[in-house]
Amino acid sequence: MTEPPVTGIAPLRDAAGAAEQFGARAERLARMAALGLPVPGATVLDFDTVRAIAEGARVPAPDPSLGPVLALRGSAGDRRWGGPQAILNVGLCDAVLPALVERIGRRGALAAYARAIRAYAVRVSGLDPEDFDNIHYDRMKLCDTLSEADLLAIVEESKRFYADEVEMPFPQTLEQQLDGAVRAMVDEWHGLTARILRESSGAPADAGLGLILQRMVFGLGQGRSGAGFFQAVDSTTGRAAATGRFLPDAQGNDAARGARTPHMITEAERAAAGQTLPSLQALDPDAFAALARHAAALTSSLGDVFELPFTVEAGTLHILDATPVRRSPSAAVQIAVDLVGQGAITREIALLRVEPRNLIETLHPRIDPNARRDIFGTGLPASPGAATGKICFSPEAAMALHAQGEDAILVRVETSPEDIRGMHAAVGVLTVRGGMTSHAAVIARGLGLPCVVGAGELHLDLRRGRLTAPDGRAFGAGDSITIDGTAGEALAGAPAMLPAVPSAAFDTLMGWADEVRALGVRANADTPADAALARRFKVDGIGLCRTEHMFFEGDRIDVMREMILASNGAERQVALDRLLPMQRGDFEALFGIMEGLPVTIRLLDPPLHEFLPHGQEELAALARAMNLPVEDVIARAEDLREFNPMLGKRGVRLGITMPEIYDMQARAIFEAAHNAGEAAGVPVIPEIMIPLVSANRELELVKARVDSIAAAVAAERGRRLDYRIGVMVETPRGALRAADLARSSAFLSFGTNDLTQMTYGLSRDDAGRFMRDYVAKGVFPEDPFHSLDVEGVGELLLLATNRGRSVRSDLTLGLCGEHGGDPESIRFCKIAGFDYVSCSPFRVPIARLAAAQVTI
Ligand code: PEP
Ligand code: MG
Repeated sequence: MTEPPVTGIAPLRDAAGAAEQFGARAERLARMAALGLPVPGATVLDFDTVRAIAEGARVPAPDPSLGPVLALRGSAGDRRWGGPQAILNVGLCDAVLPALVERIGRRGALAAYARAIRAYAVRVSGLDPEDFDNIHYDRMKLCDTLSEADLLAIVEESKRFYADEVEMPFPQTLEQQLDGAVRAMVDEWHGLTARILRESSGAPADAGLGLILQRMVFGLGQGRSGAGFFQAVDSTTGRAAATGRFLPDAQGNDAARGARTPHMITEAERAAAGQTLPSLQALDPDAFAALARHAAALTSSLGDVFELPFTVEAGTLHILDATPVRRSPSAAVQIAVDLVGQGAITREIALLRVEPRNLIETLHPRIDPNARRDIFGTGLPASPGAATGKICFSPEAAMALHAQGEDAILVRVETSPEDIRGMHAAVGVLTVRGGMTSHAAVIARGLGLPCVVGAGELHLDLRRGRLTAPDGRAFGAGDSITIDGTAGEALAGAPAMLPAVPSAAFDTLMGWADEVRALGVRANADTPADAALARRFKVDGIGLCRTEHMFFEGDRIDVMREMILASNGAERQVALDRLLPMQRGDFEALFGIMEGLPVTIRLLDPPLHEFLPHGQEELAALARAMNLPVEDVIARAEDLREFNPMLGKRGVRLGITMPEIYDMQARAIFEAAHNAGEAAGVPVIPEIMIPLVSANRELELVKARVDSIAAAVAAERGRRLDYRIGVMVETPRGALRAADLARSSAFLSFGTNDLTQMTYGLSRDDAGRFMRDYVAKGVFPEDPFHSLDVEGVGELLLLATNRGRSVRSDLTLGLCGEHGGDPESIRFCKIAGFDYVSCSPFRVPIARLAAAQVTI
């Protein structure tokens, strides 16, 4: 039988610029060699050759000039797709041993031979590594360091063991060993686990593998030999600082494995670690200097910072590979900016190097990755960052604890507007129910509070004040817990934290993003504090001010409740007249902070019952405080109760049926705009947004009243004011009727939280109960409340965009649902031709960077 010929063995230099044929590692090694780095000689099998081998073709004979012992390394098309681990010392056999003894000494050569047999036996013949460890440790028991005689005995025993188990002698030619090693690596690559893993990292189903056959260099042996790894920057900070490890008489990644204590790379590192072993810098200053030089050369020609695994054989340095340095989110920013400073990459490439989502980690404290995590509950990662505090089961308790200067974690079944003051006072929030756009999630993101929602396995007994974990552990008020809102975890106790590190590099990168991006980024900001925070993050304006949140500040809720409980129009007007100056003050503050940037104010949206306390006792207390008959208050609350409040009397429906509320808000907005404009000497142009519109007549009715109030205020002030009225598109019908709506709107802003809820018929407050299952089973590729459903909701957005712009080409289009801070959704918004996205203040930097990336 003749085997198919194999042709694809190439000198390493052919791999330069041909990663799609030879894989990324081979490509990089070729470039390193071309730059003059001391890379051991190699040849490469390309993807097609490896595929042919997988189908039974012969393994080609290696180039004899590489020597009798080889290292075999995998080379996938992309580093993130992994690949089989290297097999070292391939070809080492009895016949080769004397020459190796000559080269690196007897001890080193025997140690290498023992490793060769073990690696081949385990990786190629599938024997148990423990059996070889036992052979080794049986000898080690006799003394600490193995003598030559011990090593020889280990080699002999290993060969014998191999022959007994495999029923064949250990192969004694390079060709035989290479054939076995190549096939083992090829099989590993095609194995199911490896395939699933790499496909989850984005590899195509037919991803190829290249194989590098590299001359083996030996760090084993006495004298100036060893192996280690080096990088020129610190992985945590990204700043220039040489770090790494070096282990004498070692091979492969021994220095990272920790069997013996390795040497630090620099004296500074050694001193900081209080280590007594001399650093590589002191031991071998030439090798250290060469590593630093080579790392710098690679950086300037390949445009990144690399970790260099290296071997020193008898005083000669060899560099075996270069992998991009692992980096924390803040290090990624620092490195990208520094590389631009060094002229190694352009600003555009720097912008693409940073994952927008990771920026959030640079803005919040996080749990030290080395800390022990005692997780007692998991839920949805609703708002990132981590915080430790004492459990509080009510907003009042959180406020009381806060007043004592202590950190509170507010734990609730779910939150409602009543909880907002407690959330302000807390450092983190945990809810048992709720999805990514539940009240707790939205508010926490706005406040920048770490938050986990929908931790449904936890049992919360509010009456007894007990939070019980699935493992039976119970936590009470005052117990210390930690919320990791990035991972969606609740942890017992207080693991070590890493602080947020704002840096000059962050500001620099963000400045570049602003120069590049064409999509506006506004903030969802409800209060002056939110607006100030958003300005710190250099926002382009406010895209959504949810006015209802203002009614929970201080004791305004009392006046709001008076308004709701009023038994007639006159009484209601008295309460509204008291609310007017409060709202006016808020708006004036917002306009003042935003200094002429656009501010979109949404008229009242939630159903009124949300402003009343829940429970008979609380209602009775309210009645007493307001001097009203208890039965009346309870009856009124009952009156407001709806079967499905999110689809009930809320949004513009309130505005139509109780127009005095919107009248008051419109007047507050116009008066504030006049005042703020006069104070600043530049006119303020407020944007008024009407929520939950589904019919054009709703818009007409509200717009007519708002226009007449604008006219009234203009008459009182003796001056007209420009303003813009727009619609929040958050019902499917609103999207379908966008052409009608656009005729009398200056802007449409898509409220994709409600629009997602209504398009799917999926409650945003309850979706958390099954979303994990749905995503795990692939029903939804992602939580549609988190990342925009481009296929369904996206189609409605495109349709509304086209219909709206067909009647008004200058129609401003924005998106203000939670998707406004999600990079994938932002990509969609850019492609759809929106003018801006609006998101919570802490996500503004993410949106700015993502908006820049879609423009590049
Ligand atoms: C929305 O529905 O997308 C929105 C922004 O409004 P809210 O979350 O306040 O309902
Ligand atoms: Mg909404």
